[in-house]
Amino acid sequence: MTDSLPLLVFSDLDGTLLDHDTYEFAPALPALRALGRVGAGVVLATSKTAAEVAPIRSAMALDAWPAIVENGAGILEPGTGGTGDDGTYRKIRAKLRALPPGFEGFGDLTATGVAALTGLSLEAAQAAKARQFSEPGLWKGDPSRLDAFIQAALASDLHARQGGRFLTLSMGGTKADRMIEIAERYGKPATVALGDAPNDAEMIAAAHHGVIVCNPQAPPMPLLDGEKANRITRTTLPGPAGWAEAIFDILEMLGLSKEAASHG
Ligand SMILES: [Mg+2]
Repeated sequence: MTDSLPLLVFSDLDGTLLDHDTYEFAPALPALRALGRVGAGVVLATSKTAAEVAPIRSAMALDAWPAIVENGAGILEPGTGGTGDDGTYRKIRAKLRALPPGFEGFGDLTATGVAALTGLSLEAAQAAKARQFSEPGLWKGDPSRLDAFIQAALASDLHARQGGRFLTLSMGGTKADRMIEIAERYGKPATVALGDAPNDAEMIAAAHHGVIVCNPQAPPMPLLDGEKANRITRTTLPGPAGWAEAIFDILEMLGLSKEAASHG
C-alpha cells in the first residue's frame, strides 16, 4: 500500500549516510532498522552512477526503493541492477562532439585515467564510468573560452553544472526534482532529506524536514531559510552517526518512536 507510507527519507551517501573517510554506514544501522519497522522508505540520492549505487543499496537492504543517481539526472528503479539503458548518455556524448573543443569527460578517459583523476580503484573507476544520464569532466581548454563552451552547451539543450570539482553536463534534473517525482509515486508522504554539501541544499530545502549532516571536511553549507523555523536542522555528529541522531529525533517528533522501537 503505497499511500500508507508514514515517511519517505531521501539521503545523500558520501559524508552523509556513508562515513567521509571509511565509507562505512554501520553507525546508521539502528536508525535504518527503526525506519524499516515503521514502514518508512529510504531513497538514496547521490552523484554516483547506478553501477556504483546498486551494491551499496543492496548492502543496506534498500532494494525495494528507487535511488536517485548521477546527481538527479536519473533514477535507478527498485530491484534492478546497476547496468541500465545508456541512451541518454550517448545522446549527451553526441551533442558534446558538436561543441567547441576543450571539455574532457569521463567518456574520453580510460578506466585507468578516471582512477588517476579521482583516486578511485580501477574497479570503482569502471563503475563510475558506467554512465547513463550525465557526463562529468574538466575544462582543459583556454579558461577564457569556458563561457562560450557553456553557452554553446545550453544552446544545444544540455544543462551544465559546476560541482566541487567537475563540470557536469546532463539533460537536466536535480536531486530535488527527483525527490518530488518519487514522493508523488508514493502518494506524497511526509519527506525527510539529509545531506552534507551545497549540492544537497535544494533537496534539503524542498523536504518537509531537512537535515544538514555535519561534515568538517566539506565546503561549508550556507545558512538555509528553513533553519530559522527549525524545519531544517544540523547534526552535531558527522556522517552515519549524525544521520542516526537526526532520524531518531524526527521519529520522536512525528510520534513514531514507540513503533520504531517495537520488535514485534
Ligand atoms: Mg555528500
